[in-house]
Amino acid sequence: MSDLIDALRDILDDRGVLTGDDVSTRMIHVWYQRPIEALCIVRPRTTEEVAAVLKLCHARGQTVVPHGGLTGLVQGCNCGPGDVVLSLERMNTVEDIDPVGRTMTVQAGVPLQVLQETADEHGLMFPLDLGARGSCHIGGNVSTNAGGNRVIRFGMTRDNVLGLEAVLADGTVVTSLNTMIKNNAGYDLKHLFIGTEGTLGIVTRVVIRLREAPRALSTAFAAFDDFKQVTAFLRYIDRELGGALCAFEVLWRDFYELVTTAPADNVRPVPCEFPNYVLIEALGTGADGAGEHFEAIMGEALEQGLIADAAVARSESDRKAMWRIRDSVEHFFRYGPAFLYDVSLGIRFMDDYVGEVKRRLDERWPEHHCFTLGHIADGNIHFAINVGDDGADAHALVNACVYEPLQPVGGSVSAEHGIGTEKRAYLPLSRGANEIDLMRRVKAALDPKGILNPGKVFPA
Ligand code: ZN
Repeated sequence: MSDLIDALRDILDDRGVLTGDDVSTRMIHVWYQRPIEALCIVRPRTTEEVAAVLKLCHARGQTVVPHGGLTGLVQGCNCGPGDVVLSLERMNTVEDIDPVGRTMTVQAGVPLQVLQETADEHGLMFPLDLGARGSCHIGGNVSTNAGGNRVIRFGMTRDNVLGLEAVLADGTVVTSLNTMIKNNAGYDLKHLFIGTEGTLGIVTRVVIRLREAPRALSTAFAAFDDFKQVTAFLRYIDRELGGALCAFEVLWRDFYELVTTAPADNVRPVPCEFPNYVLIEALGTGADGAGEHFEAIMGEALEQGLIADAAVARSESDRKAMWRIRDSVEHFFRYGPAFLYDVSLGIRFMDDYVGEVKRRLDERWPEHHCFTLGHIADGNIHFAINVGDDGADAHALVNACVYEPLQPVGGSVSAEHGIGTEKRAYLPLSRGANEIDLMRRVKAALDPKGILNPGKVFPA
C-alpha cells in the first residue's frame, strides 16, 4: 500500500496526505470520541486534485470515503483501515457572491455558518439552518440533502441549490454550476449528487440560492393541551401569517422537561405541565406593526382556545433563549448512550404513532427514557431513546419499535439524516423493490467498481 501513498503524495502537497498518528488522533464524529481508522486521509485543495485522486483510486479499485464536517447521525462517514478518506476541509473558499442574482458559489468544505454569515454581510440570507451549523460543511449538507429548522418555508437543501460540480468515481469532473432558477435544458444532473451520500460522486463546488435577509423575526413559545390542538394551531398560524411562518418546532413534554431541568439551565417560558410545546418563528418585514400583528394573532389564539399558554419573545435574548431550549440536544445523553431517530410520516398519523412507539418501548423496557421533538409541519419527528443497554441487539429491538409502525402509514425511516450505514437494513421499509433496483442501476452506471463510500445506503 505504500506505493499508493507515494502516488497520492505525488498528486498532493506535503500536508495533503495524512497517515499514522495524523489519522488516528482525529475522531470520526464531532460527538463521539472514536479515532478514525483509514489507510490515509487525503486533503485536496482543488477540484483538479480531487479528480486526480479519484482517477488513481479508480484505476486500483481503491475505496474512497468522503468526509465533511463529521456531524452526520447515520454513520455515513464510517471507514476502515483499507479505505482512503477524502476530506474536503481545505476546499473552504467562498468563490463568488452575486447580490443581484442572489447566488453564492462556494467550495464544498465551507462550514454552513460561514455561508450564513457571508450572506448576511450582503443583506441576504442562506435559509438552510441546523444545530450543527458551526461544524457541518455545505458539501455534506448537499450530499445528505440536510433539512433543519426552516424547511416549512424554504424547503430542504435540494431546494436551495442551483448548481454544483462533482467528480465521478473515475475522476471525470462534471461541472454544472448553474446560477439560474429556471433551467430545463435536459436532465437536472445536480440531483444525482444531492442526498446520495457520496455514493455517486464527490461534490466539490456548489451554487446556492440566497434570499433577502428578514428585517425582523417574531418568535413565540406556546403550550398545548393535546396534539390535536397543535395541528389546528399550525393551520391557524400559517394562515394568519400569510406565508411568513418559518419555523414550527414541536417539543413533547419529555424533551421539554429534560432540557429545562438541572443540570440544563434553560428557563421555562411556560410551565412544564402540558403534553406539547411549540417554538414558532415568523419572518418579519420590519414594517411598523409587524411585531404587533404577531402578538395580536397569538393573543387571539389564546382567546379562541387554540393554545393553552404562550410567551412571546420581547428581545433578541428572549429569542435566543427559546431556540436554546430547542437546540439543547446534548442533554439526550444525560442517562447514558441514546439511540437517535429521524423519521417522517403524515401529520395526521403522528399522535397515534408516537403513542405506539412509546407503548412498545414501555412493554419491553419500563424504565426507558424517550425524548421526542420534531419539525412536525414537515412530517418529521426525532426521538432519542435510552433503554439502559447500547448493544447491537438492543439497538435492533429499539429500531423495530420505531420503524415497524411507520410502514402501515407510508412513513419514512429517514426524514433528513439519510441512510448511511445505520439505516440501510431498513431502506426496504420505505422504498419498493423497483425503487431500490433503480438506485442500484444508477450506482452501477456511475460507480461500476463500487469505490465511492462503500457499504452506505444500500441493504447488504
Ligand atoms: Zn431535525
